Amino acid sequence: MRSNESFASAIRLRGMKLTRQRQLILEVLESSRGHPDAEMVYAKAKERDPRIGFATVYRTLALLKQLGLAEEHNLGEGHGHFEAVDKTKPHFHFTCLKCGKVVEFVSPQILRTTQSLCEKKGLLVTDIHLHFSGYCRHCRPAGSECAEKP
Ligand SMILES: [Zn+2]
Ligand SMILES: [Zn+2]
Repeated sequence: MRSNESFASAIRLRGMKLTRQRQLILEVLESSRGHPDAEMVYAKAKERDPRIGFATVYRTLALLKQLGLAEEHNLGEGHGHFEAVDKTKPHFHFTCLKCGKVVEFVSPQILRTTQSLCEKKGLLVTDIHLHFSGYCRHCRPAGSECAEKP
């Protein structure tokens, strides 16, 4: 598995070990649909390794984030949600304020902006914090206009 290889080499570069539990946490994250929080990753990892501790899950998620293998999103709640990074598909998130539904979307415009920041201003973008919130199709007040500005 490609990401497991890059995890292994990134972790070795830091003089750390790719333990079975760390590997398991990455696998759980990669096989998760959506955006699990640390508790959800912990619950899934525990099904496969009952001895795994929440602290290990928490620390490993932080490590994956540091290594650029996972992203943490604030989806409008107090705690973070995690997602394995798939560099080929950068996408953004919209959270419904009423039902909590998370909608993912791609934005070629935003990617073009980062490209031109680099080409025109010499800025290499490594991280984008952008989170949209509002009301989904089902929760929108009846008669609300699409053009309504936040
Ligand atoms: Zn909704
Ligand atoms: Zn996502």
